[in-house]
Amino acid sequence: MSTAIDWDALDAVKAQDETEAVTALLQAQPLSLEDRAAVRAEAEALVRGARRSARRQGVVENFLQEFSLSTREGLALMCLAEALLRTPDEETKDRLIAEKIGSADWASHLGKSGSLFVNASTWGLMLTGKLVDVDDEARDNLPGFLKRLAGRVGEPVIRAAVGQAIRIMGEQFVLGRTIEAAIARARAEGDICSFDMLGEGARTEADAARYEKAYAEAIETVGRLSGGQGPEAGHGVSVKLSALSPRYEATQEARVWEELYPRVKRLALIAARHDLNFTLDAEEADRLVISLKLLERLAADTDLGDWAGLGLAVQAYQKRCPQVIAGVARLARETGRRLMVRLVKGAYWDSEIKRAQVNGRAGYPVYTTKPATDLSYLVCAKALIDAAPHLYAQFATHNAHSLAAVRRMAKAAGVKIEFQRLHGMGEALYRAADDIYDGVVVRAYAPVGGHEDLLPYLVRRLLENGANTSFVHALLDERVPAETVVVDPVAAVEAVGPGPHRKIPVPIHIYGDRLNSSGVDLFVTRERERLVRAVQTLTPLTAGAAGGEPVRNPADHGQVVGRAAEASAADIDAAFAAARQAQPAWDAAGGLERARVLRAMADALEQNRDRLIAICVREAGKTLADGIAEVREAADFCRYYARLAETKFAGPEVLKGPVGETNTLELRGRGVFVCISPWNFPLAIFTGQVAAALAAGNAVLAKPAEQTPLIAAEAVRLYCAAGLPAGLLHLLPGRGETVGAALVAHAGCDGVAFTGGTETAWRINQTLAARRGPIVPFIAETGGLNGMFVDTTAQREQVIDDVILSAFGSAGQRCSALRLLFLPNDTADHLIEGLIGAMEALRLGDPADPSTDVGPVIDEDARQALADHLERLKREARVLKVLEAPAGGTFFGPVLAEVPDAGFLEREVFGPVLHIVRYDPEDLEAVAGLLASKGYGLTLGVHSRIEAFAEEVKALVPAGNVYVNRSIIGAVVGVQPFGGQGLSGTGPKAGGPEALSRYCVERAVSVNITAQGGDPALLNL
Ligand SMILES: Cc1cc2nc3c(=O)[nH]c(=O)nc-3n(C[C@H](O)[C@H](O)[C@H](O)COP(=O)(O)OP(=O)(O)OC[C@H]3O[C@@H](n4cnc5c(N)ncnc54)[C@H](O)[C@@H]3O)c2cc1C
Repeated sequence: MSTAIDWDALDAVKAQDETEAVTALLQAQPLSLEDRAAVRAEAEALVRGARRSARRQGVVENFLQEFSLSTREGLALMCLAEALLRTPDEETKDRLIAEKIGSADWASHLGKSGSLFVNASTWGLMLTGKLVDVDDEARDNLPGFLKRLAGRVGEPVIRAAVGQAIRIMGEQFVLGRTIEAAIARARAEGDICSFDMLGEGARTEADAARYEKAYAEAIETVGRLSGGQGPEAGHGVSVKLSALSPRYEATQEARVWEELYPRVKRLALIAARHDLNFTLDAEEADRLVISLKLLERLAADTDLGDWAGLGLAVQAYQKRCPQVIAGVARLARETGRRLMVRLVKGAYWDSEIKRAQVNGRAGYPVYTTKPATDLSYLVCAKALIDAAPHLYAQFATHNAHSLAAVRRMAKAAGVKIEFQRLHGMGEALYRAADDIYDGVVVRAYAPVGGHEDLLPYLVRRLLENGANTSFVHALLDERVPAETVVVDPVAAVEAVGPGPHRKIPVPIHIYGDRLNSSGVDLFVTRERERLVRAVQTLTPLTAGAAGGEPVRNPADHGQVVGRAAEASAADIDAAFAAARQAQPAWDAAGGLERARVLRAMADALEQNRDRLIAICVREAGKTLADGIAEVREAADFCRYYARLAETKFAGPEVLKGPVGETNTLELRGRGVFVCISPWNFPLAIFTGQVAAALAAGNAVLAKPAEQTPLIAAEAVRLYCAAGLPAGLLHLLPGRGETVGAALVAHAGCDGVAFTGGTETAWRINQTLAARRGPIVPFIAETGGLNGMFVDTTAQREQVIDDVILSAFGSAGQRCSALRLLFLPNDTADHLIEGLIGAMEALRLGDPADPSTDVGPVIDEDARQALADHLERLKREARVLKVLEAPAGGTFFGPVLAEVPDAGFLEREVFGPVLHIVRYDPEDLEAVAGLLASKGYGLTLGVHSRIEAFAEEVKALVPAGNVYVNRSIIGAVVGVQPFGGQGLSGTGPKAGGPEALSRYCVERAVSVNITAQGGDPALLNL
C-alpha cells in the first residue's frame, strides 16, 4: 500500500509569482458565467436571510459588530482578553485593566449593539451597570462618572467585573470546559462537531505528552458517548500536530518520525477503533510538506485497517493548494483509503506575510489579495469535489458566496459534501442556508478547554474576523447592501488584475529605496540539501601570504578548513602606503560611484551565498540558519550604506543663510580607516565595517579575528570582484596584540572601527590617546550584560521561544545575547519548568546538519572560560539545567542557572549560559537598578502586555536596543540600528542613519556672491 509521492516537489510553487498563480486560477474557470450569476443571487439571498435572523446571530458576531479591530476599544479588549485571565496577581491585573480600559472610549459603544450580551459586557467593561453600584451621576453625566471610575480600577469589585465580562465573552467560543460537557451541549444544540482541545503548541515533551493525553481522552470519550455513527454523521476530533511535539518542523524530520509520528498514530488508532473523523489541522505554510509526509505514512499504515475517517485541513490561501489536493487525491487512490479533506481559506495570513518578509523569501506562500484567496477556494473546491469518492469534501467557510458556489458545484457533480463553521459563528448564515437549500450538512468546529487556553484562540478569531477584508465583518454591517457584501471572486480578480496587492511588495522590495537581502528557505528540503552539499564540497581556503597556520573547524578540530598567514610589519606599512595613495580618487569619485560598487558587492555576496554560508559553518561553527543570517546582514549593510553614500555624499548640502552668499556643507572621507572585527559575525561585521568606511570615502585596512580570517579573505576577494579599485582594501590577518596593535598605533591610521571585547576597546583607546598627532575617531561596539524583564501578563510560549533563541541561539555567542532573565515570583516556577523542557528539546551537534540548533563555541579558550564559569555557578548559585555537550570539537552544553541578583555577574559570559533572577514586582526599581549599575547598555528585553511596564523598565535600564515581546537578538540593518552605550559602545549605531558620521570629515564652504558684483538671484526676484 505504500506510495511514493514527491511531496517536496510542491515546494517548487511555494513562493510562486503571484500573477502567474492567479492567472492559472482564472484559467481554471471554476464556474460558468451562468453559474456565477446564479451563485451571486443565492449568496445575496443568504445574506438577507442571515440578516433577518441577526437577532439570533452569534454573540461573537455581535461583539465584532460593535468592537471592530479598527477601534481603540476593540484593540484594548483584544489585549485584555488575551492576557487578563492568565495573569495571577491582582496588582498586575489592575494595572492591565487600568491601562487598557483607561485608553478607550467605552461610552461611545453603550447601548449600540442589539445584543444583550454585548451590552452587558460593555457595561461590565465600562466598570459600571449592574456589576458596580451606579450612582445618580452615572445616569446624568456618564463621561464624568467614567473618568472617576477609571481611577478606581484597583477595587476588587471592578477587577471581578472585568474578569467576568472577559470570561462571558470567551465562553461563547468554547463548547465546554470538558469534552463531556461539550458533547452534552452539542447534543442540546443539535450540532455535529469536530472537537478541538485548546492550547498553544507544545514547547516541551511534557506539554506534548499532556496534549496527547487530552486528545486521547477526548477521542475515547467521543467514541464512547456518541460513536457508531461513522465519520460522516458522527462527531469527530481535530488535532494540531504542533501540540504533539515541541519540534514539529521540517528541519527536524527525523524527530517527526521518532517522536511525533508514534503519538499521532496512537491517536489515530483510537479514532479508527471508534470510526470517527480525525482531522489534522492545517498550520503554518512551512509545515505543509512535513504534514503531508506524515499523512501519507498514516494513510498507508495497515494497522489502521480500512478506516475512512482520516482527514486533513488544506488552506486555499496557499499557492500550492491545487497541487496539494491533487497529491492527496492520489494518495487516497493509491492507498485505497478514503480521506476526508477540509478546505479552509487559512488562519495565519498575517503571520505568513510577516514571516516571508522577515526571512527575505523569494515570494509569499499565500496570496496577497483577498479575492485571489476566494478564487483559489473555488478552484480548489472544484478539484476536491471532482476527487470524490476518494476524497470526502468538507468546506469550512462563513462566506455566503463561497458557500453558495461550493453547494452549486457539488450539486452539479452529484457529490455529497459537508460544510463546517466555527462554534459561535456563522449560525445565522447556515440557518439561512438550511432554509434556502432545504437542508445542508454542517459540522461545527468546537474548541474544548479552560478559559486560560481559550483566550489566544479567541484573539485569533477576533483578528481574523474583525479585519476589514473579512466576510463576517461585512455581513454584519447593515449599512452595506447585500449586493456589495457578496463579492464574486472571479469578477473581483478580473477587475484589479491577477497581480499582487499593491501595498504588499514582494519581500525583497519592502524597503522601497533599497533591496532587502534574500534568504534561503530552510524548510524546503532541496534548499537544505543544496546548503549541506555546499558545506561538504568546500575546498581548503587561504588568507594572507602562502603557508601560514591551519584554521580548524570548531566542531571538529581534526578538520583543517584552510590556512592563514599573519601580516608582517612590512605588510602593514605597505598596506598603509597603498591605501593612502588610492584613497583620494575614491573620495573624489563621490557617493554615487561608491554606492554602485557597494551594491555590486551586495549582489556578489548573494550570488556566492551558499559558499559563504559553508565557510561560516566550517570556520566559525555557525549553524546553517546563522550562516544565512550572516550573508543577509552583510548584503544589507552594503545596500544600506550604499544608500547613505548616495544621499549624504552625492554632493554638497546647501544650507540656509542670508542672501548674497552660498553656504554648503560637504562630507569627505577621513583617509585610511582601520577596521577590526570579531569572530562571532565574521562576515557580517567584517563586511559592514568595511562598507561603512568605504561608503564615506575612506580606504580600509581590515583585520579579521584570529579565528576567522578565511571568510574575511573571501569577502575581500568579492569586494575586488565587485569593482572596488585596487589599493583601497587590505586584509591584514593576525593576532590582536601584534597586527591589531600595530595597525592602531600606526601614524597612517585616520580612524578605527572596532567590534569586540570591552578590555580590548580600552587598550585601543589608550593606544590612540598616546599617539602624537591628530585625534582620530574610535568607533567601538563592545559587549553587554543584557537583561530581559518578564511580568505576569507575559505569555508563556512566547517567553520560552524568545528566551531560548536569545540565550542559546548562535551558542550564546552574540554580544546582544540574553544573559540575565528577570522572572516575577508568581510565574517564575512555571516559566522555568517550560524553559528546561524547551532546552531539552534543543539539538546540539555539527552545525552543518540542518537539524542542529546549537553548534560549538569558537575555541578551547572560550570553552574553558565557560567551564570555569559553570564551576562557579555550581558553587555559588543554583544550576537548574546543563545540556550534555557532544564529543569532538569545542562544544559547551547550554546552562540554565538561578542567581540571587544581577550583582552576580561582573561582565558578560560569552556563551550559552542563562542566568535567572527572580524578583518581586514591588522591587523592580532596585532589581533593575542593580543591572543598570553595571554600566553596560546594549540590548534589553521586555515581555509584558502592559505598555507602562515596558516604559518603566526602559527608563530604569539604559540600552541601545530595546525589544518588547520578541527576542533580543537579530537586529536588522536599517530596521533596528544596532549599538550600545556606556561600557557597550560609543555609537553611532551600525546600520543606522548616522552610521557614517564618524567615518568622515565635514567641510563648510561659504562663498560671498556679492564679491563678484551682486547676487543675481536677489536682483531677479
Ligand atoms: C471548521 C473550521 C475549521 C478550520 N480549520 C482551520 C485549519 O485547520 N487551519 C487553518 O489555517 N484555518 C482553519 N480555519 C480557519 C479558516 O481558515 C478561517 O475561518 C477562514 O479562512 C475564514 O474564511 P471565510 O470563508 O469564512 O471568510 P472570508 O472572510 O471570506 O475569508 C477570510 C480569508 O481570507 C484571507 N485573506 C484576508 N485578506 C487577504 C489578503 N489580502 N490576501 C489573501 N488572503 C486574504 C484570510 O486569511 C482568510 O483566510 C477553520 C475554520 C473553520 C470554520
